[in-house]
Amino acid sequence: MIYILPLLSVLIGFLIALFLKPNSSLAFKLLLSFSGAYLLSVTVFELLPEVYNTGDAQIGIFIMLGLLLQIVLEFLSKGAEHGHIHHDENTSNFPILLLISLGIHSLLEGFPLSTTEHLLYGVVIHKIPVAAILAAFLLQSKIKKYKVALFLILFALMTPLGSWMAANFEILNKYTSYISALVIGIFLHVSTTIIFEASKNHTFNASKLAVIVAGILLAYLL
Ligand SMILES: [Zn+2]
Ligand SMILES: [Zn+2]
Repeated sequence: MIYILPLLSVLIGFLIALFLKPNSSLAFKLLLSFSGAYLLSVTVFELLPEVYNTGDAQIGIFIMLGLLLQIVLEFLSKGAEHGHIHHDENTSNFPILLLISLGIHSLLEGFPLSTTEHLLYGVVIHKIPVAAILAAFLLQSKIKKYKVALFLILFALMTPLGSWMAANFEILNKYTSYISALVIGIFLHVSTTIIFEASKNHTFNASKLAVIVAGILLAYLL
């Protein structure tokens, strides 16, 4: 499941990009808000207590490093991790920086997936809108179709690769809680940015607030 579900989420995202307009559809925006709220809740309810339970004083430092790392990654990705892309749509160049940025992000997010089932769901739900926005951009651009396919396949493989590395490289076991802390920092930044950007100009939006509350409740009750 750990390997299949993240792959499936990219496929679902790709299908959404084919049939919906992710940039403007309300359903898509609600899905994005829900994914942010659910991911943040799983992080706060389950991942955070787990890493702090180790009693290691260094945990907090790694959380903040993860947050900083995500800020740097978003210079390269222009926000694809939290649901929008500002790249030039007329480009025909392979967006290598975007792939590197999303690749590092996705690889790291694969590492702690085996810790809780809820985190797996959280990452899967978070990946669907990211894959959709990415696929929509790539399909609208002038990038050759085989390159688009290559990009999406590489992107899809990174999270399962992270999970596989965590399960098979014994050296990494010593650093499990540090890597989890790094990923917590990444998730805190991505999910709060999604929730922040959901209320553009601070206008009240009942449906968005409702899906955010639903995301929190679901993560708490499941
Ligand atoms: Zn943004
Ligand atoms: Zn992510």
